[in-house]
Amino acid sequence: MIDLRSDTVTRPSAGMLERMMKASVGDMIFGEDPEVNELERMAAEMFGMEGALFCPSGTMTNQIAIKAHTRPGDEVICSRMAHIYLFEGGGVAFNSGASVALIDTVNGTFTAEDVKQHINNPDDPHRAFTRLVEVENTVNRGAGACWDFKDLKRIRELCDSRHLGLHLDGARLFNAMTADGRKPEEYGALFDSVSICLSKGLGAPVGSVLIGNREIIRQGVRIRKLFGGAMRQAGYIAAAGIYALKNNILRLADDHRNAAFLAEALNKCSLTEKVNYGGTNIVIFTLKPGNTASEFLEKIKARGILALKTGERSIRMVTHLDVSDGQIREACDILASL
Ligand SMILES: *Cc1c(COP(=O)(O)O)cnc(C)c1O
Repeated sequence: MIDLRSDTVTRPSAGMLERMMKASVGDMIFGEDPEVNELERMAAEMFGMEGALFCPSGTMTNQIAIKAHTRPGDEVICSRMAHIYLFEGGGVAFNSGASVALIDTVNGTFTAEDVKQHINNPDDPHRAFTRLVEVENTVNRGAGACWDFKDLKRIRELCDSRHLGLHLDGARLFNAMTADGRKPEEYGALFDSVSICLSKGLGAPVGSVLIGNREIIRQGVRIRKLFGGAMRQAGYIAAAGIYALKNNILRLADDHRNAAFLAEALNKCSLTEKVNYGGTNIVIFTLKPGNTASEFLEKIKARGILALKTGERSIRMVTHLDVSDGQIREACDILASL
């Protein structure tokens, strides 16, 4: 099967497994797991930030950050497409007692002007207290759209002048940096907290890292424990993360090239109405009226391709390190011929 449902379906490579087997481990909660300590040190240094926390999932790193930034009743500004709003089980409300102010966007990116229009007057007791701005890069529901770095800089300036925190959901930040050529420290300099996923395009089986300034990390240690994310001999999975950061970043360009091929093939497919491709590893497309995503998925499954339904007539395909160039060529031939 050519599995294009998500970049989370990858299995650890032989090299990664070998690295995991060799991990030296200890009790992480006692601060004694060498691999976790090394991964956290590496991530913080990479982004030029003060600290980092290894966590089981990207949902947890985002939710810890939101809780560290806010108090109950506060408001978080984010896109209506944001993963923290759509796909984290209502966690902003459940975990932090915070509400959201949603920005309507085309692809999940927005401007400082959009943010400004959603900041409540802090002196008006009727309004929730705006505390945090959250951006996602790349944007999952935005077909992997990558932000214009200039917009991020302007949002940082606005957050500084309005005393707002700024969090980055960087589940696919390395895909963004592959596309925009920016360096981790450039992102680290703009945000108070950054969440990166090791289990997406980087190919690790488990794990995310929350990277941030001292205060976020200090509070984050407590919140990670509260959320049940403080693990013990987590070095076995942290070792996979270390391997991923060392070996699997440069190859993300291959995934982007393959996604561009898929977008091209889907544009030739007679059943597609509109193909959205944000320039990284995700393609989202809609089918012409009269077709349904479920039928389309059945049809391609019979030809050996798996994809994900994202709406009645919309489907997502994601490229990753477990689909080969040959499989992509095969998938493109099939899709273009439908
Ligand atoms: C996958 C993802 C996350 C975190 O997901 P987990 O499955 O909890 O690791 C967060 N944000 C975005 C944009 C994602 O795609």
